[in-house]
Amino acid sequence: MSLTTREWHFVQRPVGLPAPETYRLVERDLPVLQPGQCLVRNLVLSVDPYMRSRMDDVPSYVPPFKLGEALTGGAVGEVIETRSDDVPLGSWLVHQVGWREHSVVDATAGRIVDKGRYPSSYYLGVLGGPGFAAFVGLFRSAGFQPGDCVFVSGAAGAVGSMVGQFASLAGAKRVVGSAGSIEKVKYLVDELGFDAAFNYKDGPVLNQLQSAFPEGFDVFFDNVGSDHLAAAIEVLNESGRVAVCGTVSTYNSAGHDAVPVNAFKIVAKRLRLQGFIAFDHEDLREEFGSQVGAWLESGRLTYRETASQGIEAVPTAFTGMLTGANTGKAIIRLADDPV
Ligand code: NAP
Repeated sequence: MSLTTREWHFVQRPVGLPAPETYRLVERDLPVLQPGQCLVRNLVLSVDPYMRSRMDDVPSYVPPFKLGEALTGGAVGEVIETRSDDVPLGSWLVHQVGWREHSVVDATAGRIVDKGRYPSSYYLGVLGGPGFAAFVGLFRSAGFQPGDCVFVSGAAGAVGSMVGQFASLAGAKRVVGSAGSIEKVKYLVDELGFDAAFNYKDGPVLNQLQSAFPEGFDVFFDNVGSDHLAAAIEVLNESGRVAVCGTVSTYNSAGHDAVPVNAFKIVAKRLRLQGFIAFDHEDLREEFGSQVGAWLESGRLTYRETASQGIEAVPTAFTGMLTGANTGKAIIRLADDPV
């Protein structure tokens, strides 16, 4: 086994999009394990929009990344050394010590998953944080009901692509998504079974949303914020519900691009807007696993990834995800899943 490993360190807070000078790839010796820890050889790493927010020095629901330290994030890996009776050698662990080739993980901070049942990357996507956020936001925060008309922003991404399909599978009357290219719009309709979709870059979101829902809609799952949220408030039906999942349109501008909403419409239409953080809803984890697992195994749920290769690719994959280069979940593959 190699005695050294590589990890991405955070060296400069970005203004706007992250740039090469934001990071440094550092080689270091593999650490010696303490009791209760295990050493994981990462198979696959995740890049997610919330990581960009953590690069700003502002308080939030997770603390900002510290300059000079290794970055962290979701990852799945194989346990190659263990000092915990609870984590057997060779098991697969989902954990939050990513952006590196090898991770030291406290046994209590990782989750063992069924090795080989699904590709390891599924635990970062459809069966991981994005899939869980889609499930929590749609079924709990938005209180989805069969027969609802649903609009999803950021619909071709990791969360959005699950939301639209979950809604259809659960009996939505009509599902419409927005995304940032003609290819993504086609993907939503042709491959994921959305009833309609539009490219938000083709013209004002409000006009496109009014055309997609001439009679209004009931549930908005918002990944984008700004013009999408403002438009949805105009077009939602009375007693409409909004699950505010994220505002990716503002993450590279510290919120300065945010568009004002017509707040009186929220009052007049008795709308309900619910922000949520998926990990506050762990009580839904089991239901999520069995429902989404069943949909996957029935072949009725389509799941796609945009994969980059190798530790060197992480910053490019991260910026690519923030600028729409991904369809489905953006991941970085470090090694093939062991068979
Ligand atoms: P993703 O959608 O797979 O990737 C980000 C996407 O954002 C890009 O592909 C791009 O797609 C879109 N985008 C970038 N700039 C945009 C802009 N100015 N306007 C509209 N779209 C823009 O990412 P994800 O992991 O699924 O996350 C989606 C949202 O969910 C994010 O807001 C994230 O913070 C949030 N989230 C929340 C929770 C929670 O617990 N609340 C958990 C996970 C994720 P286009 O090509 O379509 O522009």
